[in-house]
Amino acid sequence: MSHHDALIIGSGISGLTSAALLSKKGKSVLVLEAYSRPGGYMHSFRRFGELFDTGAHYVGSMCPGQPFHTLLNYLGVYKPEAFVPLNPDGFDVFHFPEGTIRLPMGFDRAAQELASHFPSETAAIKSYFDLIQKTVAHFPTYSFDGDADMTRSLEALQTPLTQVVEPLTQNPRLQALFYAYCGLHGVRPEDTPFGLHAIVVDSLIRGPMGFSKGGDDLTKTFVERIEAQGGRVLMNRKVVSLVVNGDNVSEVVTEKGERFTADWVISSLHPKTTFGLLTDDSRLTGLFKDRVRQLPESGGMYAVYARAQGLDWDPLQNHYFFDTSDPKEMFRERGPDEIPAMVFASLSRTSSNEGGKKVFSLHSASPYKWFERWKDTKYGKRPDDYKAFKDKLTARVFAAVERYEPGLAAKIESQVSSSPLSNLHFNGSIEGSGYGLYHSIQNTGARAIGPRTKILNLLVTGQNYLFPGLLGASISSLRTCGHIIGIKPVLEELKELGERS
Ligand SMILES: Cc1cc2nc3c(=O)[nH]c(=O)nc-3n(C[C@H](O)[C@H](O)[C@H](O)COP(=O)(O)OP(=O)(O)OC[C@H]3O[C@@H](n4cnc5c(N)ncnc54)[C@H](O)[C@@H]3O)c2cc1C
Repeated sequence: MSHHDALIIGSGISGLTSAALLSKKGKSVLVLEAYSRPGGYMHSFRRFGELFDTGAHYVGSMCPGQPFHTLLNYLGVYKPEAFVPLNPDGFDVFHFPEGTIRLPMGFDRAAQELASHFPSETAAIKSYFDLIQKTVAHFPTYSFDGDADMTRSLEALQTPLTQVVEPLTQNPRLQALFYAYCGLHGVRPEDTPFGLHAIVVDSLIRGPMGFSKGGDDLTKTFVERIEAQGGRVLMNRKVVSLVVNGDNVSEVVTEKGERFTADWVISSLHPKTTFGLLTDDSRLTGLFKDRVRQLPESGGMYAVYARAQGLDWDPLQNHYFFDTSDPKEMFRERGPDEIPAMVFASLSRTSSNEGGKKVFSLHSASPYKWFERWKDTKYGKRPDDYKAFKDKLTARVFAAVERYEPGLAAKIESQVSSSPLSNLHFNGSIEGSGYGLYHSIQNTGARAIGPRTKILNLLVTGQNYLFPGLLGASISSLRTCGHIIGIKPVLEELKELGERS
């Protein structure tokens, strides 16, 4: 049995951020990870010789002085060569049946570009972007302003995106464009907290970057930094129980039977998993337990990882292929026999795109319930009907893209695919969801779970407790660790570093 200041469960970006921050502040830390490699959804993998990312396609606010850049720099894990700036003239390309819109970097350029597509909506576009920029300033762990007006940020998290957009514009196509990023985290526009949307849009417009060597590269840098600061990251250490004694977790037990103790235990696992591990949950109210049990998930994803020849795509762009620009229709749940409402295409930013070949992934929403009947089958040994179902889903994803990119399927040289069951296998996420729980106004802000819990030394962190995405999960750890080391001095240091960058 070994004792640490903090024991962190899970080595996704939130667990690694917690460990890097606490060890930077002199705390002894130990990270316990169930899988054989660290990184969680930052994990990259190779298929047919190409490098693919699971959940690290692009990130925002990555220019010097911007929040994610500053945070990674502060943690000592920023390496310029690990990132690649996306195309400033159009990093995201939105395809709608009526036409294609490229979103350039920077608010002024973005507003000008949108105004060229919607000339009568110039005022609405300006007001929308103004609101985004004003709103993000109220989030202390994003603006690094310890005196930020939290009542304003909480208000923004209780305001649905539709409630902001509909009074600004009646144009359904412009509304659809403003809602397009909801496809990223899988929350319908009427449920999406405007504050979350504002951070996603602000970060991407200001500093969109891809990973030049995959998410694994950032993971590796994190682990090296944690170890250099005296911490440890252990793989193949699935936590199976949190022993509760009185008000605290007294021991953390792994599948191998190892037992660890710590002053603080930080779990980056989903609340259903975290609270399910407690040996005694009598400190939790019945109401709280019911709420956790009933939390909806953000939805599963079906992904196709492919290599093609002769495809004229810029590796420094992402594509959003929408089947409709009707805002009421664009996030309606489609069946497996229908064309997906949206397919997100992200190109590999590695040198593997050289010589006319293109390496990319395609993602579409695919609920867990479609795959549930195979949940007890083993990864790598799933039956033929599962494989046939996946083939059907792959064909439908290609069909959605072919509307805009005729002949795509014929250009594919190699491809494999993954389902929510793959995510469940590698990550242990509930229902194999990519973005954790459903990040609606009901589950965010004042209504969010954590970061403190009724078990006094148990804190929670990660995408389930603040915001989804690498940036969101990472800044959630600032807030969580703030309960151990004090948030204000950390925010002051971050602010100063950002201003100096
Ligand atoms: C397909 C997909 C595409 C995405 N694209 C992007 C993108 O382009 N940009 C972006 O910013 N975000 C993206 N995301 C979201 C982003 O990857 C996640 O929000 C973020 O990585 C979550 O980090 P986390 O630390 O909260 O959780 P995770 O990364 O899920 O980490 C949790 C860790 O806990 C481990 N674990 C589970 N159970 C146990 C246990 N019992 N004991 C010990 N360890 C355990 C898991 O193995 C995992 O390593 C994407 C996600 C997916 C799935």
